[in-house]
Amino acid sequence: MSTRAPPEISVVVPAWNEEGNLETLHAELAAVLDAVGLTWELIVSDDGSADGTWRVLTRLNALDPRVKGVRLSRNFGHQAALLAGLAHASGRAVISMDADHQHPPDLIPALIDEWRRGSLVVHTVRTDDPRQGFFKRTTSRLFYRIFSTLSDSTVDPGMADFRLLDRQVLDELLRFPEEGLFLRSLVQWVGFPSARIPYECRTRYSGMTKYSLRRMLKFAWTAVTSFSLVPLRVAVVAGVMTSGIAFLAIVYAVGAHVLGFYTVPGWASILSILSFLFGILFIFLGIIGEYIGRILIEVKQRPRFLVRERIGTEPASGTPELEVRARRILDVSRGQPERGEWSEP
Ligand code: UDP
Ligand code: MG
Repeated sequence: MSTRAPPEISVVVPAWNEEGNLETLHAELAAVLDAVGLTWELIVSDDGSADGTWRVLTRLNALDPRVKGVRLSRNFGHQAALLAGLAHASGRAVISMDADHQHPPDLIPALIDEWRRGSLVVHTVRTDDPRQGFFKRTTSRLFYRIFSTLSDSTVDPGMADFRLLDRQVLDELLRFPEEGLFLRSLVQWVGFPSARIPYECRTRYSGMTKYSLRRMLKFAWTAVTSFSLVPLRVAVVAGVMTSGIAFLAIVYAVGAHVLGFYTVPGWASILSILSFLFGILFIFLGIIGEYIGRILIEVKQRPRFLVRERIGTEPASGTPELEVRARRILDVSRGQPERGEWSEP
């Protein structure tokens, strides 16, 4: 199998308990991609599903060997599952999309057209869909607005992980060793000529959304702390402001004393100022703690996913986990200082 020429297009789909979606997704993809006339593969990354996702995949692979699968050892989360799939893709262009049919396969020919016209990244932007639920729409809009302000990189609301990446861009992305992986923003960060295509989001075909409010908040917080130092800088601004106020208060107190109209100040004002300042202090201690936590996680350099088994695909030689670790070990054994960035050998 490995001696075959790699396909032109790889479609990568992370799937967590999506047994009811894969067969129809495969059928739709096959229809669209065969019409485009390029060779293709579908790589499903089974993110530790508890349902029959892997069974469905094995069956699909027996019917159509272009369907391939990577099964992770447990649930590692959407971004890690997506990365696992991307790491196993061999196409000249890679399209990532969700398993639940919210990302319409009919858009794929348009993505490929843009790619042929020279865009190395083709984003898709969801036009607002009233069926999506008011809560999800507003929270996601709000998040992207805050995120874009905090992090110098603009991620449009409605830009999800439905996009095409050229092999060149993908290879660059696979070299990023970070754990707090937020591909939406990283794809902006790397640059390269890009295009964007609007689309209308469909409703989920089968099953429930895998993003509970708790998961969404965690996702948002990881994204902010991996991409932005602004929360830390806010601490400095708040510190300067509060010490400015404190300085004015001292001037006032001394002035009042010297001028002789010094009165015993009420304990209520002292108490409220003290508790206000302590409040700010603890908030920023918490924020600093979060960043230290992120550093701890990053420094450990644990693999971001573990593969339990594969079907129709092999460990890619460029599996980011192995490659990055090998290089680090090499660097250390050569006695070179560890650097933030590492260069080509
Ligand atoms: N997913 C995953 N692992 C997770 C959560 C989600 O692989 O821990 C997959 C899921 O199967 C789907 C995609 O990521 O293919 C997007 O998830 P979902 O549709 O639940 O998110 P939503 O569209 O509601 O934001
Ligand atoms: Mg979905």
